[in-house]
Order: sequence, then structure tokens, then C-alpha cells
Amino acid sequence: MTLMPSWVDGANAPDCPFPLNNLPYGVYSIEGGEPACCTAIGNYVLDLAQLQIGGLIDVGEEAIFSQNCLNQFMAMGQGSWDRVRQQLIELLNEKAVGSNKAAIEAAMTPLGQARMQMPFRVCEFTDFFSGRHHAENAGTMFRGRENALQPNWLHIPVGYNGRASTVVVSGTDIVRPQGQLKSPKHETPIFAPSRRLDIELEMGAVVGTSSTMGRPVSVDEADEMIFGYVIVNDWSARDIQAWEYQPLGPFQAKAFATSISPWIVSRAALEPFRVSTPDREKPLLSYLQENGPLLYDIDLEVAMQPDAADVETIISRTNYREMYYSAAQQLAHHSSSGCAMNCGDLLGSGTISGPDKSSLGSLLEISWGGKEPFTLNNGESRTFIEDGDRLTLRGHAQGNGYRIGFGECTATILPAIE
Ligand code: MN
Repeated sequence: MTLMPSWVDGANAPDCPFPLNNLPYGVYSIEGGEPACCTAIGNYVLDLAQLQIGGLIDVGEEAIFSQNCLNQFMAMGQGSWDRVRQQLIELLNEKAVGSNKAAIEAAMTPLGQARMQMPFRVCEFTDFFSGRHHAENAGTMFRGRENALQPNWLHIPVGYNGRASTVVVSGTDIVRPQGQLKSPKHETPIFAPSRRLDIELEMGAVVGTSSTMGRPVSVDEADEMIFGYVIVNDWSARDIQAWEYQPLGPFQAKAFATSISPWIVSRAALEPFRVSTPDREKPLLSYLQENGPLLYDIDLEVAMQPDAADVETIISRTNYREMYYSAAQQLAHHSSSGCAMNCGDLLGSGTISGPDKSSLGSLLEISWGGKEPFTLNNGESRTFIEDGDRLTLRGHAQGNGYRIGFGECTATILPAIE
């Protein structure tokens, strides 16, 4: 797949995150205006509500883009997603007819002037643990190398039900969580701000079409239900987690915040970047088996920038293809008991770590449980996140002369409110 040329400014630059091949979905507003659904092309946000009202895209009678979330469009399913994408490609490609251009330009806002909002209303948030390197690293720290992977791990995409109420869009500051902390040296816990605040670099699958309670979906059906993907930072308070997690798993350690990138990149845009999950060490039960490649080759990086620093430091580079289970497998597994999955459900992949020290997706791993501080470009050192630190997650799929970007998933940590 090569670049699809567009007549829009900036869209054909090799490093532009939003060429015509991408057409991600978001929600934006401009100063004093109402939010509306949009896409991004070149250096611009393109207002889909205005295009629909102007008769330039046809997606039925209802004004589904004149809203502050994409859920209604997401619920319409693959046929409508394909139709809108096709119409946008016809309007924006370099050979498009000139008569529509003035109307399209009137619906454009420079990216720098658009305030990106939550792109969809999160119905429920489920987080998985499907990165093998991360699971082995965390397991080694807590149980030793021999017992790094729990006996279920190679058979089941392990997950837990998280909170939808605190999923926020990139750019939203995060207040340091407080909770019960108990060091091994003390008999009883204290209540205090977390001292081991961490990131988890993940991808998120956004469910478009719903499934029915009592009826499990296959892996192929699950893939068709996924509207698109975002970058996720599953913030984690390791000290709160260590004390609270037995026997029911993470609770407050994860409930305080989850950040997502502002653009949902469709499966259609990611299609050329499909890759297979790794070879199976243990055969999977048939309901989890895949008929084709369902992961994606997406380069990911994490940057950290303390308040006082002029420059950021890249602290990790990895790739989504490191996952052991795809989002379609996770979604099929989630429905396997008969659990209904709904439009707006968000599925976190699990922390995406690569095989070596420069490709780890959490500070827990980078600092090896806090034992090995790392140094930033401005000379400061870290084990976990300090107040004022800005964490930025980025990702793109690299094509031949173009790339598919997600926009940044960034946030600054504010002091706890005591
Ligand atoms: Mn996580």
C-alpha cells in the first residue's frame, strides 16, 4: 500500500500522521462552539457534521455527526463505516472534482485551533494482561523467573473489569492518587499519596457493534465488531496495587485514571499493517483460534518530561505486534461466558513491552521494581513518576512513504489533593 494523494495541505508529507489513507475519527470543538464529530486530514480537522448537513456525505437522515460523541455512528456497523470512508476518499483525493472544494474548506479548522474532546462515550472499560514480555517481567519480579507466568496465561487472555468513569482524553491533567499503602516493614497500612505511580503503554480496541447476552461471538465476528483503535495509558499506582490486589485483582490502583489518544483509527486504515500473533506455545482452545492475522504492526514510544526540563526523553520504543493475544481474541473471550459487549466498550491490550531494556512499557519494568533508577536528558533520575512530570505516548503504523498516526496520548501529573 502506498500513499493515497490528497489535495489538502500537508496530507502528502511522508511524516504527516493524517494522510488520506488514515481518516481517523474524533470529536472537537473550537472556542465558543459546540462539539462535533470530525476526521483529520493533513494539517486540518474536518467537521463531519458540516459535511453531512451540506449534503457532501450521505449516512442516513439522522444528524449523527452533530453530536459530542461518535457512539451513534459506531453502532451503525461496518457497512456505514465503509460508506463514509469511501465518500471521504472521493471528496479528498487529489483528483476530486473542484466544485466541492470550497464547501469542504469551509468545514476545515487548523489542527492547532481544534480542542480535541473524548471521541466516544465509554460504556465499560476492560483491561487485559496480554503482553508476554510484560507478564514475564512482572511475574519474575514478584514470583521469581521459574514461576513468572501463571499456569493460565498461555491459555486465556487474563483481564479485569476496570472503570469507564475516569477514562479521559489526552491533555487532561491527572491528580496523583491516594490510597492504602503498606510497606513490608510495617504491620498496618497508612493512607497517603501513591509513591510508585506508573504508566502502562497499551493499545485500546473500541467496540462499535454490540453482541447479545447469552450468545458468545467468534474471533472473526469480534474483529468485525471493532470500530477502531486508540493509544491507552493505563495509569497504575503500584504501591496501592501491591496491598489491595489479593484475591480479586486491581481496584483503586487502576480506577483513578485512564488516558486515551483523541483519534480512533479505523480497522480499514490499519488493514495493510496486519500481522500474526506469535507462534503458540500451547495450542489454544478452538473458540480462541484465529483464521488470519489480527494484530497490527504499530510503532510505539513513551516520552517523559519533568516540569523543569526543556526537552523530553524517550524512555521506551516498542511495537503493538509484541502482543500474545489480539483484541479480537480478547473480545471473543470476553463474550465467551455470555457476557454482552456494547457499543463504546473499551478493551485495553495489556502493557506492551518488547524483549529488551529499551522496549519496556512501564516504569515498573524500566526501573525493575524501583531498584534501578534511570536518567533523563536533563540529568534528573527517576524510578516512578514525580509531580509535574509529563508522560506522552505516541504511535504510528509506517507505510511506504506515508504513516498512520494516532495523535498523542499525553498528560501531566498534578500533586495529590490531600
Ligand atoms: Mn493495564
